Amino acid sequence: MNGKLADFRELTLEEMQDFLVQMGEKPFRAKQIFAWVYRGVRSFDEMTDISKSLREKLDRQAKLGQMRILKMQTSKKDGTRKYLLELEDGNTIESVFMKYQYGNSICVSSQAGCRMGCRFCASGMDGLKRNLTAGEITGQILEAERDTGEPINHIVVMGTGEPFDNYENLLKFIRNIHRKEGKGISLRNITVSTCGLIPRMRDFARDQRQVNLAVSLHSADNGVREEMMPVNRRYPVEELLQACREYTEETGRRITFEYALVHGKTDTDRQIRLLADKLRGTLCHVNLIPLNEVKETGLSGSGRARAREIAAFLEQQGIPATVRRELGADIQAACGQLRLGAGR
Ligand code: SF4
Repeated sequence: MNGKLADFRELTLEEMQDFLVQMGEKPFRAKQIFAWVYRGVRSFDEMTDISKSLREKLDRQAKLGQMRILKMQTSKKDGTRKYLLELEDGNTIESVFMKYQYGNSICVSSQAGCRMGCRFCASGMDGLKRNLTAGEITGQILEAERDTGEPINHIVVMGTGEPFDNYENLLKFIRNIHRKEGKGISLRNITVSTCGLIPRMRDFARDQRQVNLAVSLHSADNGVREEMMPVNRRYPVEELLQACREYTEETGRRITFEYALVHGKTDTDRQIRLLADKLRGTLCHVNLIPLNEVKETGLSGSGRARAREIAAFLEQQGIPATVRRELGADIQAACGQLRLGAGR
């Protein structure tokens, strides 16, 4: 539908102002419209404090990008909802809504497919289809809020795709979702997760230093990491950790390292000692991911007991570590970077 029209889910407030001025309208209308967009309306007609004639004009000259919930699974255990969404061009993406004590959180996708080829990840198996637009990243939040009727105040960009492989759209999305005229999500409540694209990590330290950065490490051993994550060939562990230290120095913010515990591979005493040695002295936090559900990949998870043991060891070594709470396990709701063998 209306493929060439300006998508108002996509525009910045300033772009919206310019658009309205070109239509012969007053620029202040843009604030009203921006607010409606981030309330999740699906048509200009729902913008009830805008005159009918302007709504009709907008309808002819612009659009609000749409996505359709193809499938939704709700966890009976904790209310986690996993969405399969269809984009306008037929590509599909996933997002996951989660409830925490501190509020509601969503894990969004940044690309349709992914070209990073991590071995444990179902999302990247068919390669990259295309980047998502800023509006399509936002749309996942708006659709989930509409579906649940609950506000979302935390965002993790950790679904399908490597966010730093879609950098400009990621930045635009963050700027838009943070605008107080729209949703006004605090930058501190946004986390971006990367498999370790070093040049972009450097850019991010400069461009968005308030946003939390998570790095999927999964092993501090080049051999093991390379086997699991081909990106390690381009950016080996030493270079990655050096870039992480530079990031923390530049921003003064700690980094979260995601570490998936694969039985007999990343969870051995040797691997964990190596991890401790390499991270000691870095301003960081380790998020241990015990993997329980495993199919297809031939890898198996360590379980929560071993994860707690490892967390205690890292703490002893002066490295803050937690074991990720398991949400939506019954619906295989783990995000792209942890979708070990979850299949589709
Ligand atoms: S884990 Fe993330 S970076 Fe790796 S293939 Fe999957 S989506 Fe891409």
